[in-house]
Amino acid sequence: MPNTLQAYRGSLLHFLADPAFSDQSYAWHEDGLLVVADGKVQAAGDYATLHAALPPGTELHDYSGKLLLPGFIDTHVHYPQTDMIASPSEGLLPWLETYTFPTERQFEDPVHAAGVAEFFLDELLRCGTTTAMVYCTVHPQSVDAFFTASEARGLRMVAGKVMMDRNCPEFLRDTAESSARDTEALIQRWHQRGRSLYAITPRFAPTSTEEQLQLAGELARAYPDTFIQTHVSENEAECAWVRKLFPKSRSYIDVYDSYGMLRPRAMYGHCIWLNEQDRLRMAETRSATAICPTSNLFLGSGLFDFERADQAGVPLSLATDVGGGTSFSMLQTMNEAYKVARLSGSYLPALRMFYLATLGAARSMQLEGTIGNFAAGAEADFIVLDPQATPLLQRRTARGESLEELLFALALLGDDRAVAATYSAGRKVHTRETN
Ligand SMILES: [Zn+2]
Repeated sequence: MPNTLQAYRGSLLHFLADPAFSDQSYAWHEDGLLVVADGKVQAAGDYATLHAALPPGTELHDYSGKLLLPGFIDTHVHYPQTDMIASPSEGLLPWLETYTFPTERQFEDPVHAAGVAEFFLDELLRCGTTTAMVYCTVHPQSVDAFFTASEARGLRMVAGKVMMDRNCPEFLRDTAESSARDTEALIQRWHQRGRSLYAITPRFAPTSTEEQLQLAGELARAYPDTFIQTHVSENEAECAWVRKLFPKSRSYIDVYDSYGMLRPRAMYGHCIWLNEQDRLRMAETRSATAICPTSNLFLGSGLFDFERADQAGVPLSLATDVGGGTSFSMLQTMNEAYKVARLSGSYLPALRMFYLATLGAARSMQLEGTIGNFAAGAEADFIVLDPQATPLLQRRTARGESLEELLFALALLGDDRAVAATYSAGRKVHTRETN
């Protein structure tokens, strides 16, 4: 039998707990080794110790001078909006009308959908993102196209068909009944097939009737290990609209709560204009937040309040929200998250940001042990970061005095160029081109 063991040498970092709440939150091996067998992590630790124990003939990949980290997890992104990233607009609602809806209309065509899915996945892997929670469009064929592409590459991906039966153009409208039927068929086709996982995906409360939200909640109860993803409290005009549409609800998140959609594996994008009770309710139900700083700054939506979210104990993660977000790079997302935190009176250490983009996200998704760190038996999704990727990074990191400084420089100055290679389930799925 051929030897399937592969070993990767480099500076190894992964998380064991949230640095905001623990003094022993990470493992760092400056001369480290990651041992992978059959697509899973077998061991992660010091090179000197682990190398001596490897069977003869084990293939050794030398990434000395570079960092080995778990792959990034982007917990909120719209693949159909790839082609409309960086479209100018004065705020969320006009942006939806002018760019989003016409762009999403094209996904009726499965050939178009398949082409965009391939480009989108290339871009994620180039940026070191190995798992994402992905919005498709209202068309079931957009979901088939996405999972077909991600399955062919062996990626751990979560995605779902947008449910939207009002306040949108006729050409993107489903009905409560058809959306529930299509969603259930997609769950049966894709959820837990290989590495694919399904997310029940009402776009946001204003574009769903009460009947559609009711059926989404019923599906969430019938399939408790599926995900739920939607948007909440992104900007003030949207919140005012929700108050008008759902006058009986205590708050925006309470709309979802009343349909049983606050639960583990529910991921709420943005969560900017929440009140204390909302945050406590999210924490109590283990409903998670996808913080989308580049999108929130781009659309002028508001500043996420890290301090209040941490006080309440809401599970947190970072997300790009492309096409509202302006970069596929989780490093660039950290860069903007750091500034958002500063503006809202908090401080985000680099260690915390790297945690949120890896293990924090996996925990928010109830996927700890499967992805997010190098625990033995976890899927071997990992990246190789190059602190010398650009002349400026090289110059800055040469002066780094601590791990925090090194990570901070990568977060603030890095992007896809800092990702030398990306591996999924132990297979190389991206190599940075250099010339
Ligand atoms: Zn979004």
